[in-house]
Amino acid sequence: MALLQIAEPGQSPVPHQTKRAVGIDLGTTNSLVATVRGGRSEVLSDAEGQAMLPSVVNYSSADGARVGAVAQALSSEHPADTLVSVKRFMGRGRADAQQEAERAHYQLADNEEGMVSFVTTQGTVSPVQASAEILSVLETRAREALGGEIEGAVITVPAYFDDAQRQATKDAATLAGLPVMRLLNEPTAAAVAYGLDSGEEGVIAVYDLGGGTFDISILKLHRGVFEVLATGGDTALGGDDLDAAVAGWALEQRPCAPLSGGQHRALRSMARKAKEALSTGNSVDLPIAEIVADAQSLTLSRVDFEALIQPLVKRTLRACRRCLRDAGIAAVDNVVMVGGSTRVPLVRAAVADFFERKPLTDIDPDRVVAMGAAIQADILVGNRPEGDLLLLDVIPLSLGLETMGGLVEKIVPRNTTIPVTRAQEFTTFKDGQTALAVHIVQGERELVSDSRSLARFELRGIPPMVAGAARIMVTFQVDADGLLNVSAQEAATGAESSVTVKPSFGLNDEQITQMLQASFSHAADDKNARQLAEQRLDAEQLLDGLEAALAADGSELLSQPECEALHRLMKELREQAASESIDDIRKLTEQLGRASEAFAARRMDKSIKQALSGVSLEALDQEVSE
Ligand code: ADP
Ligand code: MG
Repeated sequence: MALLQIAEPGQSPVPHQTKRAVGIDLGTTNSLVATVRGGRSEVLSDAEGQAMLPSVVNYSSADGARVGAVAQALSSEHPADTLVSVKRFMGRGRADAQQEAERAHYQLADNEEGMVSFVTTQGTVSPVQASAEILSVLETRAREALGGEIEGAVITVPAYFDDAQRQATKDAATLAGLPVMRLLNEPTAAAVAYGLDSGEEGVIAVYDLGGGTFDISILKLHRGVFEVLATGGDTALGGDDLDAAVAGWALEQRPCAPLSGGQHRALRSMARKAKEALSTGNSVDLPIAEIVADAQSLTLSRVDFEALIQPLVKRTLRACRRCLRDAGIAAVDNVVMVGGSTRVPLVRAAVADFFERKPLTDIDPDRVVAMGAAIQADILVGNRPEGDLLLLDVIPLSLGLETMGGLVEKIVPRNTTIPVTRAQEFTTFKDGQTALAVHIVQGERELVSDSRSLARFELRGIPPMVAGAARIMVTFQVDADGLLNVSAQEAATGAESSVTVKPSFGLNDEQITQMLQASFSHAADDKNARQLAEQRLDAEQLLDGLEAALAADGSELLSQPECEALHRLMKELREQAASESIDDIRKLTEQLGRASEAFAARRMDKSIKQALSGVSLEALDQEVSE
């Protein structure tokens, strides 16, 4: 695939006037904001010197939302009013998110678009609103640190985020009053922070083990441009699971009556502290008595901890193996470690062992994504005189539209680098057709019924013409943030119609993987289904045309037996078309085509005669002699 470098508009006309630009890592567990100052990327801290803002929003007070550590402190007391991990719900439909919400003890509300929102004491709150609260705290922090309004922000998202999830992230930024220049894939941001973009070529694995998710991405650097070769991971595996393993172990050692919701959260947070301490220490004490009266303290050694989490670490490596296979890569040049959980020494050792390469860990794994985003923001806002790199991402699933017979025509194939514009010409199916139904679908399968429907719109005002004569240009445009705009334009009149796709809910990486796997395992079936649909379409087109012709000229140009013979064959083909046999439909279609040839010839004669009937003899003579 050709990678095109694209000039970015809005370079600063005054080279030395720096604009206020920030990079934001809007994380599932923690969020950060960074900026480039004096040529160096640095994370901005709050008044207490804390850089990491826990991605927690509390809605138990009428005075407004509380964000970060203060919200976290309220979570035991107000579990249902304290939203954690809202990123998991971004751009997802209610049905889609039900299980996740139950696990987190949230109560979901219904809203018009079928999107998720949570019921809190202060009313219903959407994941976009909660994320906007987090962004707004970071925006204030940046504004105060930089002494003025932020002129441009880059916000990072997981590489597998789909249109709906990306759009939701943008919406949250808009709500928070942040001017977003670009959404950037998290692994790409991490690679940029390590300056890996300054190399010429190379393959980079980004291993990101955060609080609740594990992402592995394989990036390819080619002439200063990153391409995502493959992504994988597990949306339900992260530091939280390490905490759960420790908490489970504690309960096994000290059996007690079932814990309340608050006690449970308290035990989890104790387990988390213990886990983090074990990244540097060799053993840690768990003062269980603080949670369950009369329970004795416990001590957990590093060795026992490693035995507890070994299965979880192995699961991440299995995902790495799959991802390498998807990318068609045997070895990588660099491994970048991202996410707080990569501080666990066992994780580092296992990753080094797996990739046979010492992973890059010099930059704080919590901060590396925000720092990379800040570098990109600095470039995009125009603070660097040299154009510098522009990072291009790819779309995870093919985009296409529905054609006659319920078939998918792929317009932008999966893994195409974005931004991208692709156009293709289509035409009408029926004589006199004046409108076109455009149905946009996503996925790798051949049939619309097996694909994911993204949007529909209609193009009206096509002048009536015979089937196949109209020319309609359909253009798919995916912008740098992965958002899709589709437009259709009729050539003769210029009539135009378009839609920006905002699907009602998103797909997670697991579903994308499933859709891809389904397309591989159904490849043969799909080919068959496509041929069948096409054959049926041929039959239908012939039958329709013949029907109209018989109604117009049948009684005049055909004898009774001829007419009956044609009708018999037509009936037979109509029945056969409902069958699954491609060959039989093809044979009958051909037979009917031959049987109607004489009729077609007579109609041709008739229409020529008609055309000539008004022409004078002299004119005809002239034409003939010419
Ligand atoms: P996210 O990307 O999901 O927002 P982070 O990258 O901030 O998450 O990682 C948060 C996770 O990292 C938490 O589970 C936290 O306990 C874990 N973590 C932070 N510091 C350490 C440490 N020193 N040792 C082990 N785990 C840590
Ligand atoms: Mg993260």
